[in-house]
Amino acid sequence: DSLQPKFNRVLLKISGEALMGDQGFGLHPPTVQRIAREVKTVHDLGVEICMVIGGGNIFRGLSGSAQGMERTTADYMGMLATIMNALAMQSALEELGVFTRVISAIRMDEVAEPYIRRRAVRHLEKKRVCIFAAGTGNPYFTTDTAATLRANEMACEAIFKGTKVDGVYDKDPKKHADAKRYDNVTYDEVLAQHLGVMDASAIALARDNNLPIIVFSLDEPGGFRGILAGQGTYTSVH
Ligand code: UDP
Repeated sequence: DSLQPKFNRVLLKISGEALMGDQGFGLHPPTVQRIAREVKTVHDLGVEICMVIGGGNIFRGLSGSAQGMERTTADYMGMLATIMNALAMQSALEELGVFTRVISAIRMDEVAEPYIRRRAVRHLEKKRVCIFAAGTGNPYFTTDTAATLRANEMACEAIFKGTKVDGVYDKDPKKHADAKRYDNVTYDEVLAQHLGVMDASAIALARDNNLPIIVFSLDEPGGFRGILAGQGTYTSVH
């Protein structure tokens, strides 16, 4: 393989909705398998990979509380949803021969490892893909913040945020034909202009630790691998 990755250790963040395919809800196994193949091509380059997967395809705390549920309970349900997504991704990756660990922020010892930082680092050194589940383990946070937290703890060089579009735009490119994509944008511009990259806590945590966020399209076959080698279109938030 002639591609030279520019990163040694990265965190891939995808939303739960990325796993539902064209369905309006839940898990679409062929889509999970497609993303797993993208991850494998990067793993094959020798890159150490962390993953954080959202839960919005199954349950979001805010929607639950909007319908009268107690907010923290609803948030715990959202965190449990991320564990199901993590297990689905684990299964798809292991089917491809990639060794993985699901590491949960909420103890669930029969299902996933508890989060112990040094142990997770060791897994990465042994080239196991670490799928961090249950968000931060705390209500009122999101999996974007969990991704930023774990990327910092694991000393990742960047967060790769896989989305439906190939970067950050000044307005929604699916709705506005004249939307402009940024090649580079600062954390403060994202916050001031409310660009929909990640929520504000996640952006601030990345900014305060100089952790770049690379926003790219997960729908582009080979996109994740190309961008790790500096090819393709994406937005770098730094
Ligand atoms: N969640 C939480 N704390 C966390 C991470 C997630 O309470 O640290 C809950 C929250 O209710 C959220 C849900 O889990 O709505 C699913 O996560 P998220 O909305 O980030 O998923 P995504 O939008 O990426 O699919």
